[in-house]
Amino acid sequence: MKKNNFQIVVIGSGPGGALTALNLLESGFDVLLIEKGNYYKTNELKNYSYKEMYEKYNYSGLTLAIGNPNINYVEGSCFGGGSEINSGLYHRLPENILNKWRAKYKLEYSNEKLNKIYTEIEKDLNISYQNKNNIPKASLKLLEGSNKMGLNCIEIPRWIRHVKNKYIKQSMTETYLKKYILLGGKYITGSEVQNFNESNKIFYLNIIKQNKIIKIRTNYLFICSGAIHSPFLLLKSGIKKNIGNTLKMHPSFKFIAKFNEEINFLNMGVPVHQIKSFKKITIGCSISNKAYLGIGLSESGSLKEMRNWKKLASYYVMISPKSYGKIHKIPLINSPIVRYSLNKKDIDRLYFGIKKLGEVLFKAGANTLYPSINSNLKIKSISEIDKIKDLSKRKLNLMTIHLFSSIRMGGIKEISATNPFGQLWDHKNIFINDSSILCDSPGVNPQGTIMAFAKYNVDNFIENNKINEI
Ligand SMILES: Cc1cc2nc3c(=O)[nH]c(=O)nc-3n(C[C@H](O)[C@H](O)[C@H](O)COP(=O)(O)OP(=O)(O)OC[C@H]3O[C@@H](n4cnc5c(N)ncnc54)[C@H](O)[C@@H]3O)c2cc1C
Repeated sequence: MKKNNFQIVVIGSGPGGALTALNLLESGFDVLLIEKGNYYKTNELKNYSYKEMYEKYNYSGLTLAIGNPNINYVEGSCFGGGSEINSGLYHRLPENILNKWRAKYKLEYSNEKLNKIYTEIEKDLNISYQNKNNIPKASLKLLEGSNKMGLNCIEIPRWIRHVKNKYIKQSMTETYLKKYILLGGKYITGSEVQNFNESNKIFYLNIIKQNKIIKIRTNYLFICSGAIHSPFLLLKSGIKKNIGNTLKMHPSFKFIAKFNEEINFLNMGVPVHQIKSFKKITIGCSISNKAYLGIGLSESGSLKEMRNWKKLASYYVMISPKSYGKIHKIPLINSPIVRYSLNKKDIDRLYFGIKKLGEVLFKAGANTLYPSINSNLKIKSISEIDKIKDLSKRKLNLMTIHLFSSIRMGGIKEISATNPFGQLWDHKNIFINDSSILCDSPGVNPQGTIMAFAKYNVDNFIENNKINEI
């Protein structure tokens, strides 16, 4: 790349970054989009395979938040970020949560504009329900158990396009990034921004691409590197105020359930039901292909059950915790250190959710549950579910795919890192526009909220900045 001077640089090409880069380009700004991971076309790697995990996940998915218990967190790291590997389950932010954020964090978003933005995004991503005949049996088992218990279990729509009998997930490379490239948007992949410094209102970026250092200059920075790496980049660049110490996530616990009949098949795809009857708890069915079942069963020492894989499926309970985590930068180490300790209330909420999930699965006809625990425990009946509580909580194998709030946005300077439009309080030309700015846990799958907030903020930037004056 010959040119090394841009009006705006966007760092990270996940849902936040892809939407930001496209909107800025369409408004006539001179933009460069930088992505650490590589560019893979849809279907270049088999969905939900080991190979995909190895190539498209940050550190191949081997990332841990240290706590009691530890929590394995996973993030996408490729062109398109998490949107390329995720399940595509779409929600708007529930209104009660938005109202809470408005009151507590002084968010200024108007309902009218936000609703318009949601409608636009839903059209861009083709948010749709699955063809009724294609809903996996494992997903319907959740509905069956819920109906027997009088719980509210619903199908969640997804960003998918129906093509003959198949679905094409409407990830960023299929939508916003496709359009960005078609319009001539500039981007570099396999390129990690190491840090930056600012002098006379110009940012100087140090980027590593294939072991070489590239230097880029820009007037404005949009940092969209995800909830762990956006704060890490700021910390590495010497910006610290309220950065990285309000991390939130949705920790989850899994059961692999064994049924008497076959409920799983090759290429089963994505289960779509979630139970929404409990405050701050979501229960759902996970991807249950052979690779994922193998990982789950080996945790509980039951790998030999793989011979019955057609009768097995994986289910999760995920909570919105009260506790916060923290992202640390340690001298000479080029990876973030993440700490997250659940408090007693969070652990109790998790145990409550585990019990409910177990009950639903037994009511749906499961005969054995294999919990995600470092122990050989097998659960054979509802009354045995409480055995999980008798073990040390350290034995729980928790994980999360939802991370946010590490650079909180809001109208009160003391408790937020950016103003209500994602602009850092003390660095007026730096904007954060990804999962990091969510005020707190959204309690639902977050990508819809991340994109809506990113659109609100980038529109605000475009309204306030004239192209020729930058
Ligand atoms: C397995 C899985 C399933 C999920 N399922 C769903 C779902 O069904 N529905 C839903 O709503 N959400 C889901 N999510 C969550 C959703 O994908 C994320 O919340 C979303 O992708 C976060 O978007 P983002 O813009 O904050 O950043 P990300 O998607 O995390 O993208 C950030 C990008 O920045 C890049 N980057 C980081 N640091 C640098 C740097 N220094 N220089 C250059 N580039 C950098 C990264 O490589 C990455 O590609 C899932 C996540 C996972 C992992």
